Amino acid sequence: MGFLKKIVDSIFGSAEGEVRDPDGIFLYVKCSRCGAPIRIRADKRHDLQRDYDTNEYILRKEIMDGTCFSLMQATVRYNAAYQVVDREIEGGEFISRDEYQELTAPKPEREEEAGGPESSEDQADETD
Ligand SMILES: [Zn+2]
Repeated sequence: MGFLKKIVDSIFGSAEGEVRDPDGIFLYVKCSRCGAPIRIRADKRHDLQRDYDTNEYILRKEIMDGTCFSLMQATVRYNAAYQVVDREIEGGEFISRDEYQELTAPKPEREEEAGGPESSEDQADETD
């Protein structure tokens, strides 16, 4: 069944690149100053520090928001299976991958732009 799940994952994917990137760990954060969503890739082999006392991994990452250039400092602890056991961030907040995709998705055009004849009633509100 693990085999089948792998196929399903590779077809439907989790997010772009993550399936083909087994050493990548992805963080999703939001800048607390301007609200910009940021995705950060860390590498299991290079970016994680082993904590031999607890058998956990520690990821410390400085994140520069490309929008307002504020600096965030994230610290995430993983267990031996690379599951998050603890995390904290200064200057921002963690968001889920779904939230990230929602925030970065192109905004659909407003429906009036598509030219529905029914929308003409709304013009009554546009007075200066
Ligand atoms: Zn920002």
